[in-house]
Amino acid sequence: RTGRAAAAVERLTRWRDDFPTPGVRFADLTPVFADAEGFRTVVDCLASCGPDADLVAGVDARGFLIGAAVAASLGTGVLAVRKAGKLPPPVISREYELEYGTAALEIPADGIDLAGKRVLLLDDVLATGGTLAAAANLFTQVGAQVIAAAVVLELTFLNGRDRQGDYPLTSIVKV
Ligand code: AMP
Repeated sequence: RTGRAAAAVERLTRWRDDFPTPGVRFADLTPVFADAEGFRTVVDCLASCGPDADLVAGVDARGFLIGAAVAASLGTGVLAVRKAGKLPPPVISREYELEYGTAALEIPADGIDLAGKRVLLLDDVLATGGTLAAAANLFTQVGAQVIAAAVVLELTFLNGRDRQGDYPLTSIVKV
């Protein structure tokens, strides 16, 4: 399945230069997720990264697609890690560096008992790694444990892996 998922990602990813800003080479996974075999093999592969998880978290916004499907596959709940301002208060917030300025990710501060939860954290692309690291920090801040993180595509030249905590990080395809 890993081989089939990787083949689908390599075959179907749309690469676009200078999007959303000049100098960025954007990896658009939309055609991977729109393809039946691509989506199924990617979801199976990501689910195998955290078989013992009791919660799957997906990062805003493309992480939601895979997060929900992986959670259904594992039989866990799903949690959307949102960009700032989308969730009603109270929230727990974590800032992270962007190329220009900062952004923040948020999860609810009440209504979910996150202490002790075993979280599988998912996103579509690992670039500089700031987004995934900030998301992981939110969970450690509330006493949950990120047992594994996984992405569909890792842009290795940006060294995002170096910014991660001590959770295992899987990527289906490395570029
Ligand atoms: P980073 O924090 O730099 O690792 O950025 C990761 C987040 O930004 C992910 O949620 C990605 O969806 C998005 N992203 C950053 N760079 C790219 C890229 N070159 N292609 C596609 N998505 C990207």
